[in-house]
Amino acid sequence: MSTTKLVIARNTGTRRTYCALCNQQRNFSLGLELFRIDTFELVCLFCGREHAPELVALLALGRSAQHFARDEHLAQTHV
Ligand SMILES: [Zn+2]
Repeated sequence: MSTTKLVIARNTGTRRTYCALCNQQRNFSLGLELFRIDTFELVCLFCGREHAPELVALLALGRSAQHFARDEHLAQTHV
């Protein structure tokens, strides 16, 4: 039973690296991603679903909010 704690934070630079938990090379997006709280290394969504499914759900929510905000911004600048 793993006690690894995860946190949602903004990924500002790493797009392709190894997941801190499963050591598989993964693609990450810039913006909200999952990190280990102790080492602050990126964690993939597969591990996220195992270790913190509620955070993965929040992440999906956060991403759609980001898209919504961007779409709103575009709508306003094109009026
Ligand atoms: Zn992983």
